[in-house]
Amino acid sequence: MKKVVKFGGSSLASAEQFKKVGAIITSDESRVYVVPSAPGKRFSDDTKVTDMLLHVYETAKAGNDFTEEVKAIKARYDEIITGLEIKDFSLDKDFEEITKQLEDLTNPDPMCTLDYVASRGEFLNGKIMAAYLGFEFIDAAEVIFFNAEGNLNSYKTEKVLGERLAKTQHAVVPGFYGLGKDGKVKTFSRGGSDVTGSLVAKAVGADIYENWTDVSGFLMADPRIVENPKPIERITYKELRELSYMGASVLHEDAVFPVREVNIPINIRNTNEPDNPGTIISDTPAVTNNIITGVAGRKDFVVVALYKNMMNSEIGFVKRLLTILENNEISFEHLPSGIDTVCVVISQKQLEGKLQDL
Ligand code: ASP
Repeated sequence: MKKVVKFGGSSLASAEQFKKVGAIITSDESRVYVVPSAPGKRFSDDTKVTDMLLHVYETAKAGNDFTEEVKAIKARYDEIITGLEIKDFSLDKDFEEITKQLEDLTNPDPMCTLDYVASRGEFLNGKIMAAYLGFEFIDAAEVIFFNAEGNLNSYKTEKVLGERLAKTQHAVVPGFYGLGKDGKVKTFSRGGSDVTGSLVAKAVGADIYENWTDVSGFLMADPRIVENPKPIERITYKELRELSYMGASVLHEDAVFPVREVNIPINIRNTNEPDNPGTIISDTPAVTNNIITGVAGRKDFVVVALYKNMMNSEIGFVKRLLTILENNEISFEHLPSGIDTVCVVISQKQLEGKLQDL
């Protein structure tokens, strides 16, 4: 039995949270590969380390003094290291390097990039995690690759990651980033550590991909809107894609693809409630009497409604309509139709500055 475990930012926001994570990992010897996020919020008004890094990048790029900001970021990590009492371990050298890179930003053609700075959140947290657990640290830039278009190079990633992990029994691979075709660090979109976890699970042929967060899996509705919704014990990959796309933001929407191809189930678990079984995401639908698995919603859509007599019998009308969208580089969400009508549902963002042309 081999499990890949990914921990989100709130699970790693402080030494106290790290200890819970350590206990979860050591309580099951099949939890052998760990993917950490960057430290998240410790309390609701707190700032995620990734957001602090994005900010310090802007400060440095504008040529302003960033010393205090770097100090504040380092303090977040030092608090964790001290709280965990990790012996003979420090990130001083790493922070010297990051400072050097930030200084480079005022040069006319800097080597340092936004993605590099943003990725340090996971990189540094991975180092702490590896030292704390006594696992090997593997820099994601050595095992996860993007192509020239900036998309994941799945083939190369799977090969290199699989071969590298086959050589080690216990490892920490930081989430969220890899190496771009240009040889520079490149990140996934926000929340992308979920994708890294999925890639690791696929590369090692894991039995399960456990994704540990601060909620006990998916709920049938948004608890901010519906009081006390029931948990979803089981959901298919397909249903999950729909729910995440429509706003159920527990898991990055691209995290499903790698594991789905090889049918490795994802188990969403709660670090603060480790005995809760959470939600299992797999190909196997739940055996229940429920017709609807869950409900999610998004806002800010525009509906363009067209009326034309006998539209239903006119061959090719919708094709021509969609060609107009294509020519304006607009993707649509939904296309409900009636006998004399068709409506195109488009996200407002897609239409910015294009509505009149359309
Ligand atoms: N730390 C990154 C973010 O805040 C990536 C992640 O947590 O998955 O988006």
